[in-house]
Order: sequence, then structure tokens, then C-alpha cells
Amino acid sequence: MIEILITIIIIIVLVIFFFSKSSLNDQTAATTYSAEYYRGLNYLLNNEDDKALRIFTDLIDVDSSTIETHLALGGVYRRRGEFDKAILIHQNLLSRPNLDKSIKNQSLYELSKDFFSAGLYDKSEKILLNLKSNKSYYESCNEYLLLTYELSKDWDKAITFSKDLKSDIIRNTPREVLLAQYYCEKAIDYLKDEQLNKTITVLKKAIDVNKSCSRAYKLLFELNIESNPELAFDYLHSLVKINSSFILIVSNDILRLSSTHQNSSLDKKIYDMILKLSTPTLFSPDIYEFMFNYNKFETPSDYISRINANLFTEIYDNLYKTKNDNLSFQNDLLSIIKDNYLSFNCNNCGYSSNSYIWQCPSCNSWETIEPSTISDRVTIDG
Ligand SMILES: [Zn+2]
Repeated sequence: MIEILITIIIIIVLVIFFFSKSSLNDQTAATTYSAEYYRGLNYLLNNEDDKALRIFTDLIDVDSSTIETHLALGGVYRRRGEFDKAILIHQNLLSRPNLDKSIKNQSLYELSKDFFSAGLYDKSEKILLNLKSNKSYYESCNEYLLLTYELSKDWDKAITFSKDLKSDIIRNTPREVLLAQYYCEKAIDYLKDEQLNKTITVLKKAIDVNKSCSRAYKLLFELNIESNPELAFDYLHSLVKINSSFILIVSNDILRLSSTHQNSSLDKKIYDMILKLSTPTLFSPDIYEFMFNYNKFETPSDYISRINANLFTEIYDNLYKTKNDNLSFQNDLLSIIKDNYLSFNCNNCGYSSNSYIWQCPSCNSWETIEPSTISDRVTIDG
């Protein structure tokens, strides 16, 4: 009996010894792993990427907490613009065997964003096309893919791809607005190649998919200014009916349409259209000039009465009347006002530009650029 008891005690002691040893080994391994991991990070921070990669690759078994650190670190590098380091970290994660499927997908998604941010669109596209078969990545992959086609100016792919999407709203923009913009981009490409017929065909396609495509109307107006003033006017009329602030944006072309043809019936149509739409916020030096000329080189009282709540109207009118008196100070002021009258801001991210653009280069949104006038920016004490 005593012998059996002794045997049981010996077995229990052995079992306790065995488990405590194995736990000690685990701890030692974790400590070694952790030390190596931080050595790797240190190399990375010191720009010794090759040494860092070697260490990271040797650390085959990654525990879940380290994976999170890898992902976080990769994201930080990407935001800092250090894309090669972000790529290295995510590739290192992916090179590990037995990686949990959800971590693998997340790492692939992060890697595609690294390639995208680095401008390596073909590599980014390849990953996204595979990853989008996964339901939880479907929507974000599609958004990135479409943005990839936009930024690489592959308008044919952008058109085909956006037509196939299930969602009608992409990056907060209706699909038809995007499609029409892609057709307009194609039109610009055709125009550069002097293929006028193809330019007009795709502009009409843009209007077919989006009846309010102001860009297509603006381009068709500009294309017809020299050759077909009546048609140019019709497109201009459609454009300002969609959004009257285009009176400001295309004011110089309105002046050009009038001065090129010097046709009184055309000028009357322009005059009536402007008078009908003008409000104080739509004062424009170019439009003032057109109205002044139309009014036989006198103050255009009808126009002024529509917009006189804008303080620049009176200033500009007083200066313009003395334009021919060779007063250099007045003329300089007129030029300064005219040259700086308009600027443009993105209503999504605040990006500012001196010219009108359709896609914000900062936040990549379409049709978020709005005109801003000196009157909006300057407060005059009355
Ligand atoms: Zn923006």
C-alpha cells in the first residue's frame, strides 16, 4: 500500500515538474521572441530595412498581439508616406505560414493600400480584384479599384467597372455622376488627339447618363464658340440653368462668344439670360464688361440694379466708367480686381485652386469645387 502511495506521489511530482519545465520553456521562447521582435523594430526605425526584414522573417510564430502591432506599424508608415516600409511589414506578415485567414485578408487589404498610396496601381489592382470575392471586403475593394482606375486615368476600365457595381452611390457620389465624368475625361483625351467627332459623341453619352452633367454642357459650349455661336449659346443656356454659378466660371468665354461674333441678336439673348439669372453673389467683372458694352458703353443700370447688394458692383462700376481716362491707378485697380476676382475651394476638404477643376486632387471627390469671389473673401466696412 505504502509503495503504491509512494509511486503515486512520484508520478504527481514528475507531472508537476514536467509542466513547470514546459511553461518555463514557453516563457523563455516568448522572451527571446519579444527581444528579437524589438530588435527588428529598432532596425526598421534606423532605416536598416534589410536587417529588419531578416529578423522579422525569422520570427515565424507570431502571436496575436504582435500581429496587431505589425498592422498598426504598417499603417503608421503608410500615413507618413514611407510606403516601402509599410509594404515590407505587410509582406512580412503574409510570408508567415499558418496565418489565420482573417489576418491574411486584412494584411492583403493593407498591402493593397500601400501599393495604391505608392502609385503602384497594377499591384494594388491585382490584390483588390482577388480580395473582393470576400464579402466583408467587397465594398471597400470596389471603391479602391475604381479610384485606382481614376488615378491611373484608365477611363475605359472606370466606365466598365462602375457600370457593374451593385451600389448606386460610390464614395458619396451617385454612380451616374461618376460615369458622366468618365465620359467627359474620355472627351478630353479625344480632344487632345484632335478627334472632334469622337469628343462630341462621348460628351453626348455623358449627358445621356446624367442629364445634369454641367461639365459636358460646358465643354460643348466652349467647343462651339468659334464655329457655331447659336449652338454655343444653347449649351451655355443649358449649363447656367443647371447651376447659375457657371455664369462666374465661364464669364470670360461669354465675353469671347460676344466679341468673336459681334452679332446683336446673339448679344440680346446673352443679355436677357444674364439679366434673368443675376443675383448679388453672381457679380463678375467679365459679365459687367459685357453688359457695359451691350449698353452702348454706359453703366448697365438694369444689371446693376439686380446685383447692387454686392459692394464690389459699385466699386467696379465707378472705376470702369473712368477706364478710358488713362488714370493708371484706376486701371491697375480694375486689373487687380479682375485677375483675383475668382478662386476655387473644395467643399469637402477645403483644398483651394486658382482654376476650376472637376476632381479634387486632395480628397479625390468629384464636383466638390465651388467658386469663391473677392466679395466672399473680403469684408468692406460700410
Ligand atoms: Zn477635396
